[in-house]
Amino acid sequence: HHSNNTILITGGAGFIGSNFIPYFLEQHPNIDVVNLDLLTYAGDLTNLREVEGHPNYTFIKGDICDKLLVKHLFKEYNISGVINFAAESHVDNSISSPGQFIKTNIEGTFNLLEIARILWNGKNNRFHHISTDEVYGSLGKDGYFTERSNYQPNSPYSASKASSDFLVRSYHHTYGMNVVTSNCSNNYGPKQHDEKLIPTIIRSAIKGVKIPIYGNGKNVRDWLFVKDHCIGVDTIYNHGKAGETYLLGGNNEYDNLTIAFKICDILDVKRSKIKGNYKDQIEFVEDRLGHDFRYAIDASKISKELGWKASEYFDSGLDKTIDWYLNKYQL
Ligand code: NAD
Repeated sequence: HHSNNTILITGGAGFIGSNFIPYFLEQHPNIDVVNLDLLTYAGDLTNLREVEGHPNYTFIKGDICDKLLVKHLFKEYNISGVINFAAESHVDNSISSPGQFIKTNIEGTFNLLEIARILWNGKNNRFHHISTDEVYGSLGKDGYFTERSNYQPNSPYSASKASSDFLVRSYHHTYGMNVVTSNCSNNYGPKQHDEKLIPTIIRSAIKGVKIPIYGNGKNVRDWLFVKDHCIGVDTIYNHGKAGETYLLGGNNEYDNLTIAFKICDILDVKRSKIKGNYKDQIEFVEDRLGHDFRYAIDASKISKELGWKASEYFDSGLDKTIDWYLNKYQL
């Protein structure tokens, strides 16, 4: 069936996208979703089993850089909105091999913008670009990023995201396109790829191997539960002002070592019959190159203008996350 309101969601088989799509379909029974995802190592369709066969949902395997394919999808499904989650997202990979980050994050976003510009031809359709707080560089002990902070990306990952943010911005100022960008702090929750910090801590702990922590473990991130991010993206997609940027954060600043301690404490309780003292497995490893010290977000703009606020407490979000991974890893 073809509805007259079909949105293209890119990267929907990744961590955030696969949390977002089920939520969005439930919130908007009159909107169809086409999920375009290349299924790189980071994409996992099992995370979308709950929407398989949903009448409003279509999955397409493909590359956001593929001009013919994206054009075809816009026409075939009469796409009237885009949310761009697709990206190479792991900072460590961007350090060892930055090339694919330039391709997907910069050229891919450009391709989506160009096709939207040409095929929408002045229509007021929404283009929502998903980005990161890492574009703002690193903070010292004090202060917060706001929408007015300077862009100071430090890794090939954040530099590629910054470039895509600038392209999106330019399509509003130059062509008047109805774009919004949201820059979010670190997400955590179910369905995150094994390579990331929190899944690595959980998995290493229960497998009885060393829990690797970069440097001295003092790097600070602001953690946002992925469900809260999804609610924020839906809010911005529907109500954000064209051309604007919104920062989302969870007001949950923790350093990496504290996160590892918290996870170990929860596991000590949950698995007391199997093992305790998971903290003994923590080991410091050589720091990430150019490791930003601290990210933190002042999310008062979106709170004032759109009424969004993170609602999950970190400890309960972490508990839910751990349960999800215990179920995934644990036979
Ligand atoms: P992820 O790595 O889990 O998922 C990315 C998805 O994009 C995967 O399913 C992958 O297959 C797909 N993909 C990669 N290259 C593609 C291409 N060329 N064409 C089509 N699909 C492609 O990432 P995530 O954590 O879900 O992040 C989603 C977005 O949110 C990214 O843009 C990221 O920069 C941003 N973001 C993430 C976080 C976080 O903490 N995870 C925080 C802020 C912003």
